[in-house]
Amino acid sequence: MMMQGKRAVVTGATSGIGLAIAKALADAGARVMINGFGDAAQIAAARGEAGDALYHGADMSKPAEIAAMMAAAQDQLGGVDILVNNAGIQFVSPVEDFPAEKWDAILAINLSSAFHTTRLAVPGMKTAGWGRIINTASAHSLVASPFKSAYVAAKHGIAGFTKAVALEVATDGITANCISPGYVWTPLVEKQIPDTMAARGLSREQVIEDVLLKAQPTRQFVTVEQVAATALFLCSDAASQITGANISMDGGWTAA
Ligand code: NAD
Repeated sequence: MMMQGKRAVVTGATSGIGLAIAKALADAGARVMINGFGDAAQIAAARGEAGDALYHGADMSKPAEIAAMMAAAQDQLGGVDILVNNAGIQFVSPVEDFPAEKWDAILAINLSSAFHTTRLAVPGMKTAGWGRIINTASAHSLVASPFKSAYVAAKHGIAGFTKAVALEVATDGITANCISPGYVWTPLVEKQIPDTMAARGLSREQVIEDVLLKAQPTRQFVTVEQVAATALFLCSDAASQITGANISMDGGWTAA
């Protein structure tokens, strides 16, 4: 199998896109450590889907917990060949009402956590002469939407961070890339519908059709399996010259 012998850490993998990526890597033969929140049943189910994956519950807003997760990966997996920085949250509010603690949490989870994992994963990848760093960015790493100031700032930030890391490790057999989905039907999208209804005074159907899918010329949601397939491709030898890229999967959104 393509990923046999490879060891992967996927953050935010108890749900949505991260879980699909963890599953795809495990199905391809990688040994996976997942991370993310959830009750015991959700975590057990996610571990099962990702090939009896290891689990670490580090809160991605806490650098000390991230360091503990990376140390556990070193101990329990023996190293990290593939790092997928995927954990993320959203909050929708006009900037003048945006709660400062939500700004801090989004920047910490959606951006800074990738710095804390990457800085700890790169030395081992350099020694191995092989590594793959895949960051789940977003169409919001390229364009903005109103009421998502923190998210847009964090996602633009991770796109820049990815490019800088890609250049630093370019001769070490390591690639670093972003995948930038448009709207993917996951709990993260579902949860922001009530806030968007309130912020814009719209019904649920109007938010789905006139706000979410309006941005996507194909008028379809991206699937988690499609994002996972792209992540798996980025891990392949065929993708060894793709680095520092920001791969859009947004139904044409950012072409407009
Ligand atoms: P999701 O809510 O289904 O999953 C988010 C995951 O992150 C969960 O496993 C959750 O437990 C975990 N998480 C949240 N806070 C955490 C924390 N503090 N520490 C550790 N784990 C934490 O959402 P999703 O849609 O699958 O989102 C995954 C990534 O994809 C995010 O970075 C998101 O910004 C990005 N994204 C999503 C969409 C979309 O439309 N769903 C589009 C573009 C980008």
